Amino acid sequence: MKLGIVGLPNVGKSTLFNSLTKAGAESANYPFCTIDPNVGVVSVPDKRLQVLADLYNSEKIIPAIIEFVDIAGLVKGASKGEGLGNQFLSHIREVDAIVHVVRCFEDSNIVHVEGSVDPGRDIETINLELIFSDLEILERRIARTAKGAKNDKDLAKELEMLERLKVHLEEGKPAKTFAAEEEESKLIATYNLLTAKPVIYAANVNEEDYANDGANNPYVKAVKEIAAKENSEVFVICAKIEQEMAELDDEERKIFLEDLGLEESGLDKLIKASYRLLGLISFLTAGPKETRAWTITAGTKAPQAAGKIHSDFERGFIRAEIVNYDDLVKCGSYNAAKEKGLVRLEGKDYIVQDGDVILFRFNV
Ligand code: GDP
Repeated sequence: MKLGIVGLPNVGKSTLFNSLTKAGAESANYPFCTIDPNVGVVSVPDKRLQVLADLYNSEKIIPAIIEFVDIAGLVKGASKGEGLGNQFLSHIREVDAIVHVVRCFEDSNIVHVEGSVDPGRDIETINLELIFSDLEILERRIARTAKGAKNDKDLAKELEMLERLKVHLEEGKPAKTFAAEEEESKLIATYNLLTAKPVIYAANVNEEDYANDGANNPYVKAVKEIAAKENSEVFVICAKIEQEMAELDDEERKIFLEDLGLEESGLDKLIKASYRLLGLISFLTAGPKETRAWTITAGTKAPQAAGKIHSDFERGFIRAEIVNYDDLVKCGSYNAAKEKGLVRLEGKDYIVQDGDVILFRFNV
């Protein structure tokens, strides 16, 4: 699962990306590594892991991860090939969701490409580029569909929908706010439109605005109003502080946040929200060797969840022994939970829930 970080130049994208990847780098132990400097593997903060690891005396903890891609270079005119525009747009097409960084901080030393701080204008600039790029795709699709539509009812229906969607985009609206029926939504999903992807706005504020979540910052308010219209979420971050915090160890970071009166960093909130936005949940496994979070899409059944660990687990699936994380912690041990009847045996139709601590039984 991949998220792309977009935004105009000098809004704080790289700073955010660096703090994300640096904060993530600390908790190492990734099942894989990447060499692309623009792709960062970030662990999803999950307090439950340490608690379980203590309970089971685990040698190590392996968190769930998501990937962030720093997509720099999106400027006005990108869809017309300005800069390396089209190349950047094609990178965005490969991500599952977008983090749109918006400059909400004043700093006369840091040039704004448009000469002033104005989130409304900036968001529109980026979103229009995405819309233009989508319109190109739609136009190609329309041309192709029109050819067959005369003799094919389904294609005729699709053509009619494509025309409506085109008008919607031409009004400056993203594909995700297009009112579509279920069948239409399925079709639209196959076009892989940029403006159909979920978006999180990251309002990048100055140090002073960080502790109170930008409550007094009029730019943040503007971002929230725009986001509300398209059902997107907004997170207030201070990329500068996040970068400084990324240099600290866990204990120092905790103290730093406590001094600000905060429980978690903007970064942690953003990572968690991204995970949620992608419809992802974690089930957990624990033992003396490792405590680990495994990523699945909400709605995944037990055998397929087992398959995340190993394909043999899915093929030979017999049943899952499951205890809810809270129950397990309350009881103090797996055996105590079992005695209280809180360990359930679930079969192949069971839908795995976030926080399920699972032991799979399987045939080899
Ligand atoms: P990008 O072009 O969007 O990747 O922007 P950068 O991350 O390179 O940031 C541009 C400049 O803005 C850098 O000098 C950063 O140090 C600075 N910057 C980033 N975030 C903040 C912030 O929250 N407050 C202030 N004052 N400066 C920031």
